Amino acid sequence: MRRRSPAAVVCAGVILLAGCAGVAEERTEADGRGQSPAHAPSDIGGPDRGSLAPVVDHVRTRDRVVFLTYDDGAERDPSFVGLVRERRLPVSMFLTDSVVGPGYGHFARLRAVGASLQNHTLDHSALRGLPYAGQRAEICGQQDKLRSRFGIRPRLFRPPYGTYDTTTLRAAADCGIRAVVLWRASLDPGGALTYTRGKPALRPGDIVSVPSGEPASLTLTERTERLLRQIEGRGLRVGRLEDYL
Ligand SMILES: [Zn+2]
Repeated sequence: MRRRSPAAVVCAGVILLAGCAGVAEERTEADGRGQSPAHAPSDIGGPDRGSLAPVVDHVRTRDRVVFLTYDDGAERDPSFVGLVRERRLPVSMFLTDSVVGPGYGHFARLRAVGASLQNHTLDHSALRGLPYAGQRAEICGQQDKLRSRFGIRPRLFRPPYGTYDTTTLRAAADCGIRAVVLWRASLDPGGALTYTRGKPALRPGDIVSVPSGEPASLTLTERTERLLRQIEGRGLRVGRLEDYL
């Protein structure tokens, strides 16, 4: 791409191992390898400031928190609502309208017990390479859906398959998105964490993706409980991503 800002290359050059249903691997921008790791929007400057949404896969913080993110909205395990309520987990749910379909009630219940609902497009299209109008329609359209359903204006957006380009970042900003959220760690179906870059261990500020839609022998609740044991084993807790972006 011709035009780049620091925000546009934050996650460049990494191989994303998981995070969206049906795709095991996606490569993001081909260039930018060796750039500094993802950072909070406050770190970002340059001529494009204000016109491109920043990309983050990790939050720079000294707080001993990690962030749990869930994609698509395909999995509606009722016991997951109970887990979020009992453990007071401020998880982030990135929802795709065509996947959630008539299932928004489940997410209303999750929201009522502390989850936040965020944007994962209308139709789960791979956005990179699409014209601005098409990308904007996917992002702004889901903003409108979530506003009409819940009266909210999501500030966070995750592109399907973790794939995006500069047009995505511009469209996201124009739709009111404050950050495009990827992940540094992803939970595999066996319950192990894999990492897109850096040291292969959980550290404060990590954004963790819990994929859905994969053949998994464990329920979403069981996978999350296992993940919580790993998090707590490292002296970490679950933070609210919105509070940091
Ligand atoms: Zn997805």
